[in-house]
Amino acid sequence: MDRRTVLVLGGGVGGLVAASLLRRELAPEDRVVLVERSGQHTFWPSLLWLMSGSRKAEQVQRDLQPLARRGIELCRGDIREIDPERRRIVVDGEELVGDALVVSLGAALVPERVPGLPEAGGNFYTVDGAQQVHDQVASIQAGRVAVVVADVPFKCPAAPYEAAMLVERLLRRRRVRDRVEVTIYAAESAPMGVAGPAVSQGVVDFVRQRGIDYRPDRKLARVDVPGKRLYFEGGDDAEFDVLAVVPPHAAPEAVRHSPLAGPGGWIPIDRATCETRFENVFAIGDVTTVPLKLGKPLPKAGVFAQRQAEAVSQTLAARLRGRGREQRYQGHGECFIEMGAGVAGFARGNFYAEPEPQVQMYRAGRHWHAAKVAYERNWWHTWL
Ligand SMILES: Cc1cc2nc3c(=O)[nH]c(=O)nc-3n(C[C@H](O)[C@H](O)[C@H](O)COP(=O)(O)OP(=O)(O)OC[C@H]3O[C@@H](n4cnc5c(N)ncnc54)[C@H](O)[C@@H]3O)c2cc1C
Repeated sequence: MDRRTVLVLGGGVGGLVAASLLRRELAPEDRVVLVERSGQHTFWPSLLWLMSGSRKAEQVQRDLQPLARRGIELCRGDIREIDPERRRIVVDGEELVGDALVVSLGAALVPERVPGLPEAGGNFYTVDGAQQVHDQVASIQAGRVAVVVADVPFKCPAAPYEAAMLVERLLRRRRVRDRVEVTIYAAESAPMGVAGPAVSQGVVDFVRQRGIDYRPDRKLARVDVPGKRLYFEGGDDAEFDVLAVVPPHAAPEAVRHSPLAGPGGWIPIDRATCETRFENVFAIGDVTTVPLKLGKPLPKAGVFAQRQAEAVSQTLAARLRGRGREQRYQGHGECFIEMGAGVAGFARGNFYAEPEPQVQMYRAGRHWHAAKVAYERNWWHTWL
């Protein structure tokens, strides 16, 4: 029988799950090639715990190498070109061709789009940045911590609000909270807006109960690093001593310059099959754009990348090997909301429900934090 090749682009959340499941579902002689520039997998949710001091950098990342022992071919390199018509990619000058592509290249962080932001640091969406924020919050004696969402869209709608609550908790533990203000400046009008007004209000209540000031509708225009001042579109400004920033996001360059790119450079997909307009070329996770009836896109979050990867792997097993049936992603997702002191909230629902997503917020408690810790442990146990 013919040997089939599936190229999985990106070894993040969606790519790791897709490659692992494809390896299990396809025939032993088929090739599953995982292309990743870093050679490592990062479990992004743990960056919040790196920032709060309950994880070390080495606990949030692992080498992808063990996948090779399970029969996944690892190709370490930078994808420069994607040709979906021929299902061909170029990785550092080398050409790879597949029977199918699964594009899971995530969202690129582009702090350089805001003057002063790269120099300001505090980008807690990277391992180094999360460590830096931790070190600064662990030593500040008095002043202002600004948690900033520079622009939309950004991945993990809950993360900046969780970050603010974890920072607040760390300051309280250090007994300096009464001398340090914590303020969230966000480019969006409400937290987790796609999940509906009840969830948004719940998150606003969580942060305000902790004395955190919340300023929505503040899109970051520039940062004056020596003057320690943030400037927002519309004319507002604010002082800071420590910054914790979600930088602007963009579709990865190789995607933006490929025929896959749609509005804003992100990849439009069939929301159920995750197939692009090219046959047997699928895209999942943060790199995609999925419009919802309420006028906003499906949020960018790992839970969606994982579920989409599961569906696409089944579909490819059915198409390439006649095994099982093609699967559709139904729009379900959930999210923990870390608050510090071993407490978390939880929201779950159907994001494809119409006319608007049906998402329920559950009562916060220690059990949700314990569930998130278990989720992290299980992630490493299952996938790497
Ligand atoms: C601090 C933080 C906390 C979060 N918490 C949660 C949470 O609690 N729950 C949740 O659901 N989501 C959470 N997320 C969001 C979640 O991590 C992302 O939505 C998820 O990682 C998306 O998966 P992905 O496969 O689309 O992209 P990614 O996981 O970002 O993977 C993309 C991969 O592609 C690689 N890549 C990119 N370009 C190239 C190229 N040209 N060549 C080769 N390789 C390339 C990258 O190196 C990367 O490994 C969090 C994110 C952050 C930053």
